[in-house]
Amino acid sequence: MDRVFNFSAGPSMLPVPVLERAQKEMLNCNGSGMSVMEMSHRSKVYEEIHNQAIALFKELMGIPENYKVLLLQGGASLQFSMVPLNLFKSSKKADYFVTGMWAKKAAAEAKRFGTVNVVASSEDKVFNYIPELDPSKFSPDADYFHVTTNNTIYGTRLTTLPDTKNVPLVADMSSNILSQVYDVSKFGLIYAGAQKNVGPAGLTIVIIREDLIGETMEGTPTILKYKIHADENSLYHTPPTYSIYVAKLVLEWIKELGGVAAMEKINIEKANILYNYLDQSSVFKGTVVPKDRSLMNIPFILPTEELNAKFIKEASAKGFVNLKGHRSVGGMRASIYNAMPVEGVQALVDFMKKFEMENK
Ligand SMILES: *Cc1c(COP(=O)(O)O)cnc(C)c1O
Repeated sequence: MDRVFNFSAGPSMLPVPVLERAQKEMLNCNGSGMSVMEMSHRSKVYEEIHNQAIALFKELMGIPENYKVLLLQGGASLQFSMVPLNLFKSSKKADYFVTGMWAKKAAAEAKRFGTVNVVASSEDKVFNYIPELDPSKFSPDADYFHVTTNNTIYGTRLTTLPDTKNVPLVADMSSNILSQVYDVSKFGLIYAGAQKNVGPAGLTIVIIREDLIGETMEGTPTILKYKIHADENSLYHTPPTYSIYVAKLVLEWIKELGGVAAMEKINIEKANILYNYLDQSSVFKGTVVPKDRSLMNIPFILPTEELNAKFIKEASAKGFVNLKGHRSVGGMRASIYNAMPVEGVQALVDFMKKFEMENK
């Protein structure tokens, strides 16, 4: 069977050249006579891969000198706990901008360790918009301010970052890291599970400003301390070696394309192809307030449940797979991360046009 156009929200598609390179190096990576999966994480060949991955993150994201890149496990979900355990240092208070289920889950974990102030929430409308922020609701003495830059399930994104003054901004960037240019110096900490836009599941990236690394809450397990991972160059224990290797190949692929700015341009082009069609279609409808639309996850609906089901079934038969929306939103969702080519989005829109003609 040919490869399909995979619109999965995560784990999601990887660039074909990356998969081909991994395949080529499967039995013998860099003269080692073995796969990266079979290699000691203390070996020279692996250490080179590991350090290159970190260097490429720094280069592609323009990460300043006073930040550390950590390659961890546990997914973004473990960061929901690691962030408060490591950053609750003074007031043990944090501001949370609740723009989706992941943000809500992050806030719920933080509540176990300190005081959570929800500065705004869009739960009243199933998170289909980004609420206005009122800075008078911010806690000036908070240990940090948490945001989700892209809301995977609902297809919204923050188009502006809040001005949190001296309070470190912490961002869950799981579904849009490396998809658009960010000024990393605006953040105290960025975290992301790799399986949406970076590589295979199993790897979690943490980018942290050095002054935030240090003391943790009493009782914090050693493995959950940023300091131990920062001091040991993320080799305190066995890292997810194969996921890091594939992530490195993805970073090389982005670099070859021209870096994150070039990637962003392609992502805007792709999103526009789909949004422009949705905006003039008489049957398909986007579910998000236009100004807050995501470049990565695009939810849309048809007038009836029957038509939604029919569309998903027919699309799938044509090789457009994983278009079913999240159970909390319904309808469809096309996730078009970095690895989705322009042709994939164009082919989907062509198929939608045909479906519209046949089902008017
Ligand atoms: C997928 C996702 C998560 C959860 O990631 P895991 O790695 O499965 O824990 C958290 N936040 C956002 C924004 C996500 O898209």
